[in-house]
Amino acid sequence: KSFGELGVMDSLCEACENLGYKNPTSIQVESIPVALEGRDLIGLAETGSGKTAAFAIPILQALWDNPTGLFACILAPTRELAFQISEQFEALGGGIGVRCAVVVGGMDMMAQSVVLGKKPHILVATPGRLLDHLENTKGFSLRNLKYLVMDEADRLLDMDFGPILDKVLKVIPKTRRTYLFSATMTSKVEKLQRASLSSPVRISV
Ligand code: AMP
Repeated sequence: KSFGELGVMDSLCEACENLGYKNPTSIQVESIPVALEGRDLIGLAETGSGKTAAFAIPILQALWDNPTGLFACILAPTRELAFQISEQFEALGGGIGVRCAVVVGGMDMMAQSVVLGKKPHILVATPGRLLDHLENTKGFSLRNLKYLVMDEADRLLDMDFGPILDKVLKVIPKTRRTYLFSATMTSKVEKLQRASLSSPVRISV
């Protein structure tokens, strides 16, 4: 199948082509049509499977339809992963004018507050620093968020981000869509999934 056959809009198909993505990977074939229908997703997939584009493409397509404030937040366990995710959003969404921001620990809070003030569409964050900004950065909130992604959820929980995730989930609208990706399905991941997703479609590759 091609990206177009999965329901991906022309400008994003072009972005994929420009990045050298000839055909969608298995996780993309499974996830993209379901996500475009507006369902929540659980994706069991490893790094290297193309999972980032599997969630980035449907989010960017929805953003294009209805750009409203801070649109999506992606939570990642490490700084490195956060920057990689942001790079893929920028590579795929650059052509449609998407603004991304990254807030991770170990970097200047003030500089990040300035970036948040510039009203990004997509925010990629590590959980601790996100909570820090929610509590301390004036004018910043997730009140209008449309999409939440928890990437590498098993690692997020292994790193004891569970209590922070619970706090973050409390300040995000219940009407959002949620995607959870994990390499393994542990009992902790199951519990997080029950607390945060609504009638999700489960995809494993
Ligand atoms: P990920 O699993 O999201 O970390 O992606 C692994 C790598 O595969 C990244 O460098 C992506 O740019 C690349 N990639 C994602 N989707 C495709 C695709 N459909 N075809 C070729 N490469 C891809």
